[in-house]
Amino acid sequence: LKENNARHVWHPMAHPADSQTNLPTILTGGRDVFITDVDGHEVLDAVGGLWNVNLGYSCEPVKQAISDQLNALPYYSIFRGTSNDKVIELSYELADFFAPDGLTRAFFTSGGSDSVEVALKLARQYHRIRGEAGRTKFLSLKKGYHGTHFGGASVNGNGKFRNAYEPLLPGCFHIPAPYTYRNPFNESDPAKLAQLCAAALEDEIAFQGAGTIAAFIMEPVLGAGGVMPPHPSFMPMVREICDRNGILLISDEVITAFGRTGSESGARHWGVQPDFMCTAKAITNGYFPFGALMIAGHVAEVFEKDTSGIASIDTGYTYSGHPVGAAAALAALAEIRRLKVHENAAARGKELLGGLKGLQERFEVIGDVRGEGLMCAIELVSDRASKKPSAKDVPLKLQQAAYEDGVMIRVSGNNAIFSPPLIVTSDNVTKILSAVETGLKAVSG
Ligand code: PMP
Repeated sequence: LKENNARHVWHPMAHPADSQTNLPTILTGGRDVFITDVDGHEVLDAVGGLWNVNLGYSCEPVKQAISDQLNALPYYSIFRGTSNDKVIELSYELADFFAPDGLTRAFFTSGGSDSVEVALKLARQYHRIRGEAGRTKFLSLKKGYHGTHFGGASVNGNGKFRNAYEPLLPGCFHIPAPYTYRNPFNESDPAKLAQLCAAALEDEIAFQGAGTIAAFIMEPVLGAGGVMPPHPSFMPMVREICDRNGILLISDEVITAFGRTGSESGARHWGVQPDFMCTAKAITNGYFPFGALMIAGHVAEVFEKDTSGIASIDTGYTYSGHPVGAAAALAALAEIRRLKVHENAAARGKELLGGLKGLQERFEVIGDVRGEGLMCAIELVSDRASKKPSAKDVPLKLQQAAYEDGVMIRVSGNNAIFSPPLIVTSDNVTKILSAVETGLKAVSG
């Protein structure tokens, strides 16, 4: 297996030659919040798959729903009006409970990048229907991650995901992220920083011309960029600025939807109604590739009432509304509601964040600790005073030592990221913290 893995499997988001030197993570099993590798080690998955296995690896209702649906209707597209019972029920569930008020329509996709791509396209189409074809540009946050397709890569705020693929979509501009530890304003007070970033957004809108901008896209809590929760005032300020300038607000909730921040969605967490909400990942607990773009009723209405023909220029996928994905999602969402996992995420998240802050007091290598619900990160530095990022091998060594001590964590640049399943117990959190401590000792010499 190991040899063929190196020879034949292209590993996304890794140097193609790295598959041999990475952790021994050829996986063969998963149960509860644990994964088992080919060498028989069982470790606690503090990555939660990829922020998506929120209900763990033994979620029987989702497995059963997939199997039942395969026996009932294994596939049919919802292209051009056909529908299926599961997507109808799912749309209702999403609009009724999980999405912020007013997001009444669901466009189904096969994953997060698709949900983002469709949101960007529909945003332009919306303005065009309304006679504002000049509104084509997109604004977003530096450090943001919005998927791997060309549209998403264009609004991504990290060169690592962009530079090799130029030229990208023209007309995409980025403003500073509300990242307290490092920002161009040298401002560490979260409330003041939120105001400065909001002012930067206003400036950019004025510079570009409001009438040229289609949408602003943001993650309610920046995730893959290193977990950067903004001050609670930030997203409401963004909403107000967008409203004042006729700009649509896309909330990219591929990570934050379905409980991870401690609320049903990230926009709800901050008390905001976006015009679009992109979801995927945890919608099926990671068991089936599926996503949903939630669309505000007032946006959908513009499409419905269009008589110019622009609304019928279509975008859609062979797998839009896949009945197996929809059945898996219905079962996952029912479990999320039954177990109130967002409440557990809030409570366990506080324990995890508190424990990481305790470790920061003891280990100089931790420059910053951040978190919201069960998305947390520690940022590793080689020198606290200058905030110089740690050498590249430091987080990898930490990861290796934590893995050997029974916990899988994720490394992104000089950050170690924690996004365990939302069903973790206090004991699981204690185990994660003790493995991180083992890793910190290993890198602290
Ligand atoms: N948006 C955000 C905020 C994400 O975190 C991700 C994936 N990490 C995506 C979009 C892309 O989703 P996918 O990998 O399912 O295409």
